[in-house]
Amino acid sequence: MRSIRRHIETHRTDRIGWLRAAVLGANDGIVSTASLLVGVAAANASASSLMMTGVAGLVAGAMSMAAGEYVSVYSQTDTEEADLARERAELAADPAAELRELTAIYVGRGLQPELAAQVAEQLTNHDALGTHARDELGISGPHRARPVQAALSSAASFAGGAALPLAVVAIAPGNGLIYWICGTSLIFLAGLGALASKAGGANPLAGAWRVTFWGALAMAVTAGVGAMFGTVV
Ligand SMILES: [Zn+2]
Repeated sequence: MRSIRRHIETHRTDRIGWLRAAVLGANDGIVSTASLLVGVAAANASASSLMMTGVAGLVAGAMSMAAGEYVSVYSQTDTEEADLARERAELAADPAAELRELTAIYVGRGLQPELAAQVAEQLTNHDALGTHARDELGISGPHRARPVQAALSSAASFAGGAALPLAVVAIAPGNGLIYWICGTSLIFLAGLGALASKAGGANPLAGAWRVTFWGALAMAVTAGVGAMFGTVV
């Protein structure tokens, strides 16, 4: 009997999901906090109020990311639960029709009708709801929605990103602070953009360029608004 070789290689998709979420969260943290800091610095704020603004921006941003992620993933959980409850009821009400439906799914995936019927029957006997959830609804264990995990990881990645320009405010010399914040933030963004693209198998340079362009634009706009306020106030 040929020994069953465990499925050991990891596919890119396995790690891309959480990496992409982490990079997007960190990007948000860098762009929104660096823009906030540049805007306030352009309005001639003192170093201490700059630091305070940055910390407030980090906390507010992380909390709003967590709240938004929790609510959106939770609603996905609700949908999944409702789908599973309906499926459970359909399986109880008309198991023969459900078996035909499952067989048709496997035929649609290329199995011969006899083999599809056999597979459907065996999998149904083994775990009817799990099989329909996976093969009919596309809901399977590793990809189930986890609202708390999602909320915590997006808050952490936002805070991690936001901490970078904040660290620059803490250690960079007072004059030319805006250039320090912009310059270092664009380098951080380019690095993250390249990382996310590389992890997704795409061209790292294109990824770096894309994120840096939009980050630079966001900082330029807020610096302009901040400078305007600085002259008016
Ligand atoms: Zn079904």
